[in-house]
Amino acid sequence: MTFDSLGLSPALLRAVHDLGWTAPTPIQRDAVPPARDGRDLLACAMTGSGKTGAFLLPLLHRLQDAPTRATRALILTPTRELAAQVHADFSDLARHTGLRGAAIFGGVGMGPQETAFRQHVDVIIATPGRLLDHLSQPGGYVDFRGLEVLVLDEADRMLDMGFLPDIKRVLTHLPRRRQTLFFSATLPAPIVSLSREMLQDPVRLNVERIAQPAAKIEQALWPVAEPLKADLFIALLRQDVVGNVICFTRTKHRSNRLSDVLTRAGIANARIHGNRSQNQRTEALADFKAGKVRVLVATDIVARGIDVEALEHVVNFDVPHLPEDYIHRVGRTARADATGEAFTLVSPEEESDLRAIEKAIGKKLPRRTLPGFDYHHKPVERFEVPIAERIAAIRARKAEERARAKEKAARREAQAKAEAERSARKGSGPARPQLRSSAGGGAASGGQASGGPSGAAGGSGGPRRRRRRGGHGGGGGRAAPTG
Ligand code: AMP
Repeated sequence: MTFDSLGLSPALLRAVHDLGWTAPTPIQRDAVPPARDGRDLLACAMTGSGKTGAFLLPLLHRLQDAPTRATRALILTPTRELAAQVHADFSDLARHTGLRGAAIFGGVGMGPQETAFRQHVDVIIATPGRLLDHLSQPGGYVDFRGLEVLVLDEADRMLDMGFLPDIKRVLTHLPRRRQTLFFSATLPAPIVSLSREMLQDPVRLNVERIAQPAAKIEQALWPVAEPLKADLFIALLRQDVVGNVICFTRTKHRSNRLSDVLTRAGIANARIHGNRSQNQRTEALADFKAGKVRVLVATDIVARGIDVEALEHVVNFDVPHLPEDYIHRVGRTARADATGEAFTLVSPEEESDLRAIEKAIGKKLPRRTLPGFDYHHKPVERFEVPIAERIAAIRARKAEERARAKEKAARREAQAKAEAERSARKGSGPARPQLRSSAGGGAASGGQASGGPSGAAGGSGGPRRRRRRGGHGGGGGRAAPTG
């Protein structure tokens, strides 16, 4: 398949050609046509899949169709680096369209970003915290009344970083009638419910639908109170009810916690999830395949695509939120005619997700209890710090950082003013106050929007992305607003 068959405008096809992209990636192939036609999307896609093109191409196509003088698209990203990277991709793909975009994120001055809002650039790419800072400024210069498209990029990462309340606050400033493109590598419960709130009849991508797990897999449920899950899992391992096993947890945090608990219990294990580097993931999988570790703790990222021969067991430490995810995970066992067992630990809070799974696979799963296990004991330690506590900690840290940055800016301003007054007294004319710190210097590294032709991007905290275009602008400087 080529890009020509995606029904994109000639300006976009030229940009794609300039970038040397010859064929759409699978997520681009599946996402572009429905998004171009205005449908909402719920897409499971990871970094590296070409997801940025998957939302930028249809978005640009739609905006190009009927230009107006309003900000018409908002892309929310969890980190400054990702915002900078998406902005860079925007500049590459929008270069023949005349559309303008700006990146809005913290750690750099608000002024040029305010200018971008006042100029009503077509596309705003923002982290939620800094966007809310702008939304709360006097003067009300942020105007989303003309907004047509909202993109949520890496929604699960935003959740992990405690941004869910921020996202909900941003939503209150956006028109309800809009197209929403929702991208997330995984679909933990809060993300599923956020997607339900935000999307209307979405096209679901990469959430593969498989009717049934293989017939030879024996499936069973192990009901247990949430705080005792780790203890029950360890007991199942110690009594050899489960052998070598991939154990899926709902979040990265829970997989880290489980791995720690297993290690303390003397059970060799490895972890694999989205925050681990590719090397760490490869090594974990190799150790598991070689039998060096008995348990591979994973989030559902690895449920797709891992092929481990003769895997005896899959344990769902948490009930998957989507029946499709359950079927996927359970499909890790019993490949190539081997038989396998798939166990799911179910807490009372998870019964409703479980019912959806049983409905999807068309049968009730048997429930088992482990003889000799004390189902009423008090766990020695808390398995998980509740998300509200973690979010509170992250928010407190962010508030502290913001206060520090504000203090620093005030100090610099006072210094510059004093300097200017001194120069004036000496009669050498007023000095220009130096309000902006240089790129790469501490908090101000990383690029963002500017009203002029040169918003610095890159710097020490800049994007991980490789430059693909030679000789443009010299040294990674990125204009914003751009287009
Ligand atoms: P992403 O998943 O959006 O972070 O993209 C990963 C990398 O793949 C980026 O460097 C993109 O520029 C590149 N890329 C995206 N789409 C394509 C494509 N269709 N052909 C070749 N490279 C692509």
